[in-house]
Amino acid sequence: MKKIILAETAGFCMGVALALRKLDQAIADKDDAHTIFTQGPIIHNPQVLSYYQQRGVFECTTHDQLSASTLVVIRAHGIPRSLQQDIAAHKAPIVDATCPKVKKAQLLIARNAEQGRHLLLFGEKDHPEVKGLVSYATAGFSVFEGIDEIESLIKKKKGPFFLAAQTTQDKEEFEAIKNRLHKTMPDLPIIDTICTATKERQEEALNIAQQVDFMVVVGGKNSGNTRRLAQVAGSKGTPCCHVERVEELPLEALLGCKTIGLTAGASTPENVIREVYQTLIKL
Ligand code: SF4
Repeated sequence: MKKIILAETAGFCMGVALALRKLDQAIADKDDAHTIFTQGPIIHNPQVLSYYQQRGVFECTTHDQLSASTLVVIRAHGIPRSLQQDIAAHKAPIVDATCPKVKKAQLLIARNAEQGRHLLLFGEKDHPEVKGLVSYATAGFSVFEGIDEIESLIKKKKGPFFLAAQTTQDKEEFEAIKNRLHKTMPDLPIIDTICTATKERQEEALNIAQQVDFMVVVGGKNSGNTRRLAQVAGSKGTPCCHVERVEELPLEALLGCKTIGLTAGASTPENVIREVYQTLIKL
């Protein structure tokens, strides 16, 4: 008989669940005179986005669409400050569904930048959350993706600096970066913006991966935290697949396994996880 181990941390994190609750509430409160847009995809999951499209909620593609009768719900990853100001300038009411942890990071960055400090941000240059965070760094910013980039970066830029990270970055690598920078800048202000939900999910996935023949990670292909989760789950050599939907499961490979681990990214809905779980059970 096959054994399936389902991760306890699989599925929505606090920030995603809260953003969807706010969007659901906005839909429930809406009258016929209003339209709801999201600024950016509310979360990174295609099934969730299509569910909301069926309920008449679409992503705002241009601010020409906005007026006092369009409600704008801000995505869980947050948005750049200038976009938010532009929405307000169109008199469109705003529901801010930015995750509280991302919001806190934005505000702490703004506070440090007010003291004339240049932000050194450990994060993915093209990630929407990063684009939002750096918009609060009014005294300049540099984004870097790993410890190897940091030395050459600070030689090119002028301090004083402060250090922060995208909420979903690797805590251990951030510690190593902090230690490296402390050697030359012992007074460097550091704001700890990494969210432990990501770390806990990664640790559990790694732990399960070491007990099973195959790991399945479910979630959007455009979800950064799901992609990283799949990398972590497969990092010790256990075969691992990242699927967005049940049809993508590699059934042939799974049939030969006695134990299978299952986890999911922070933006994966419960019904998708359940569907994959039921299919694995039936194998
Ligand atoms: S992973 Fe953490 S920071 Fe990101 S949305 Fe979820 S709770 Fe917020």
